[in-house]
Amino acid sequence: MTHIVVLGSANMDLVAYAGRLPGPGETVTGRDFRTAPGGKGANQAVAAVRAGAEVSMIGAVGSDPYGSALRASLESAGVDTDLLRTVEGPSGTAHVTVDDEGRNTIVVVPGANGTVESLLPGDDTLIATADALLLQLELPLSAVVEGAQAARRHGVRTVLTPAPAVPLPPELLGATDLLVPNQHEAAALTGIADPHGAAEALLRQVPQTVITLGAAGSLHAARGAEPVMVPAPEVDAVDTTAAGDTFTGVLAVALAEGRPVRDALAWASSAAALSVQRLGAAPAMPYRKEIDAL
Ligand code: ATP
Repeated sequence: MTHIVVLGSANMDLVAYAGRLPGPGETVTGRDFRTAPGGKGANQAVAAVRAGAEVSMIGAVGSDPYGSALRASLESAGVDTDLLRTVEGPSGTAHVTVDDEGRNTIVVVPGANGTVESLLPGDDTLIATADALLLQLELPLSAVVEGAQAARRHGVRTVLTPAPAVPLPPELLGATDLLVPNQHEAAALTGIADPHGAAEALLRQVPQTVITLGAAGSLHAARGAEPVMVPAPEVDAVDTTAAGDTFTGVLAVALAEGRPVRDALAWASSAAALSVQRLGAAPAMPYRKEIDAL
């Protein structure tokens, strides 16, 4: 079975729904509230496990009730959490407000995620056994760099989601096999708004990139190959939360299984298209059978 390791974040999303977003110093009365497990690392882990991989998660949750809920939700999805540490203090939280037009504001407080500054010896051993390592930027950069370099040392493919967008140090780019930014992150990293131009610029830093373009699909570019535009299936989207994490988690599984890039991209696009037709992040992610059926 394909083994994917995720080195990344787990957050509890605390979502308030209100008619409009409050301005500075203002209080508005909301009409609904829900909590949902999230964080880019945990989301990609669930996407990959549902796509049929064996998945292990390295990261941290806090000693608060959110921490046990986050661990339980990963375990019930079938993710191995042996190396997910529990650290004294609060878990990572995302404080989200959504208005009637679907616009949002989000404050992410890293909490326990922020304590993962370096790898533990067991983390390195686990990464060595993986077919791919998935990384995002919601953990301290020092740990992300260390993880990518460990994977590189062991000959393990690295897939990096550069979100939230921050300048990437050369040692991280040097240990990245596949970079998967969305259009905004690609523009932030390169200063080029046009995805083709941005992809060309990114290929000077990494051997392969996929820029996701929302409903317009994705653009694959690799050194020495013609760029390929992959259209997204036309669907009625109701909630695009974590579409990118679904896409990336499933893409990593397909590539680790040895599928040709075009097949892998089509498979990931089908998975993401299924996820946007359902509400929520992890609960909206499709299972392997559903992806195959589409
Ligand atoms: P998010 O932040 O919501 O997780 P993202 O900004 O990281 O998303 P997007 O580029 O919006 O990533 O979407 C990722 C992929 O999901 C796209 O490449 C596409 O395949 C699929 N997708 C997104 N939105 C739609 C849509 N409305 N219809 C069909 N597919 C979609």
